[in-house]
Amino acid sequence: MNFKASNIFDLIIIGGGAAAFTAAIFAARRKLNVLVLAKEIGGQAALTSAIENYPGIVEPLDGITLIRRFRLQAEKFGAKVNVEEVTNVRKSEEEFFVTTPQGEYRAVSVIAAFGLTPRDLGVAHEAEFKGRGIFYSMAIEDSTLVVGKQVAVVGGGNSALEAALRAVHDAARVYLIHRRNEFRGEAILIERVTHEPRIVLRLNSTVLDVAGDDRLHSVTIADSADASHKEELAIDHLVVAIGFGVDARCIRSVVELTERDEIIVDEVGKTTVPGFFAAGDATMIRDKQLIISAGEGAKAALSAYQYFVAVKGLKPLGPDWTVKVRI
Ligand code: NAP
Repeated sequence: MNFKASNIFDLIIIGGGAAAFTAAIFAARRKLNVLVLAKEIGGQAALTSAIENYPGIVEPLDGITLIRRFRLQAEKFGAKVNVEEVTNVRKSEEEFFVTTPQGEYRAVSVIAAFGLTPRDLGVAHEAEFKGRGIFYSMAIEDSTLVVGKQVAVVGGGNSALEAALRAVHDAARVYLIHRRNEFRGEAILIERVTHEPRIVLRLNSTVLDVAGDDRLHSVTIADSADASHKEELAIDHLVVAIGFGVDARCIRSVVELTERDEIIVDEVGKTTVPGFFAAGDATMIRDKQLIISAGEGAKAALSAYQYFVAVKGLKPLGPDWTVKVRI
């Protein structure tokens, strides 16, 4: 296949969150020709209205603003950013081919940093109301969608707690539905939720069904231990926040995954395939935190740069970080 020169890169980074843009900053500063392909900009951070634990961000900042700054910084150093969803990655002897609905791109190496995809509730009729009353996250910009609405949030982790706290400012009513009687989110968020009188808790409760016409109108819940104890809630906006998984379909044929579909990486972001690197929440790293994803993105970019200069027979620019200092 003939490739337009404009579709050929040194490095393609898949993802639009902290790991992807940090990798882009580090690679572009080493003068690699970098393309970032992001299904959407923001990643998990976009779901957080107040980032309070990222060093240097003293005044709480919403996640999407922070990630937009990451993007600007990557572009400032020359990375190209296209909002396109990667549907397939394949490898030839020497290069990778990355396909999106808009075209096909070629690169010497790839960093997969596409994060996580929200889990479905798994109830009947859920698919009918996706985007028509059922949503799988609640970014700060979505707050306008809940103005005056009857809102329910499902889940007991940080995402659900944050979504409920965000919705409460604008919604007419917010239910927080959780299958157990204990939340698993951060203590500070649990405290805020339990002290917020406008959040109506439905603990030990499981969603049984959703109903409506052209839009969602109600959610039926039941006691987690006794499904015959049911309650029908009038809800027009349901936020499903029950965790995330890796959607590895586009890279499954190229790279080795764990049984949970997480990308297997070593401590410097190398996968089992030479030239293919990965970083952030899509990998097997334990902690899903913004700062850790950013750090892993930087490591993967340095590994990709090292690979690039080795493949091209070039002399690395700048200090040789491969020299290990032993104490
Ligand atoms: P999570 O921590 O995995 O929590 C998922 C919640 O959904 C759990 O409470 C779980 O119940 C519940 N759940 C799972 N499957 C369910 C099902 N089929 N039906 C009903 N409920 C179900 O997910 P998350 O809240 O999205 O957080 C993901 C990661 O991002 C975490 O590491 C979190 O700390 C991080 N995060 C951090 C921040 C922050 O630092 N401010 C903000 C957002 C997210 P059980 O508790 O019973 O298992």
